[in-house]
Amino acid sequence: MDYAFPPPDQASIGIAGSSKRFPVHRIYCVGRNFAEHAREMGAEPSRGSPVFFMKPADAVIQDNVIPYPGCTEDLHHEVELVVALGPSLPEQWTTENALQAVYGYAVGLDLTRRDLQTAAKEKRLPWDTAKGFDASAPVSDIVPVHQAQITADTLLSLQVNGIQRQKACLGDMIFSVCDVLLALSKLYTLQPGDLVFMGTPSGVAALKEGDRFQAELQGIAELHGIIH
Ligand code: MN
Repeated sequence: MDYAFPPPDQASIGIAGSSKRFPVHRIYCVGRNFAEHAREMGAEPSRGSPVFFMKPADAVIQDNVIPYPGCTEDLHHEVELVVALGPSLPEQWTTENALQAVYGYAVGLDLTRRDLQTAAKEKRLPWDTAKGFDASAPVSDIVPVHQAQITADTLLSLQVNGIQRQKACLGDMIFSVCDVLLALSKLYTLQPGDLVFMGTPSGVAALKEGDRFQAELQGIAELHGIIH
């Protein structure tokens, strides 16, 4: 390819137990996937269809030091299960074959400029500046599915400065991984390298400069960092 200038580096994340990198294609995110979180955001939980939004692929960050973003005074944490799609994608997505597409799982934070999101909601404007900013997607290494058995009882949790802020089991998700992949496959052509942030439990709150966080997908993945 004869580009006019060198293209930016491919966004990628580590793979547990491997020297290879996972190339990130797109980042899809699910909103309001835990009933208690929907309520704390002032929405009624609904089984209708999932709420989706996106972050740019290069919003992923694996440094332990996360920059406090500009243009906000209310940066919120949202700990989430992250689903990574590999090369075995079905041609026709069904309930039976959707999980074949899963390459592995990780734990991540859907960092949110809550003040900008609240203002956007009030004006019925898009959420992009609230959700899709630089370094808004800290994520652990991906743990391949054969090493990562998730169940309804698997706990997702976040501590900030040693104090628990969020904790729920994956069985509390309104839409399962299968439900979400099927819904996304109708809206988009899913590709190897896509990540899906599956939505956060209740307990979202502010992060301040100097805060240390520890996110965990029980027995599978951990993510540590400091806000700077
Ligand atoms: Mn979220």
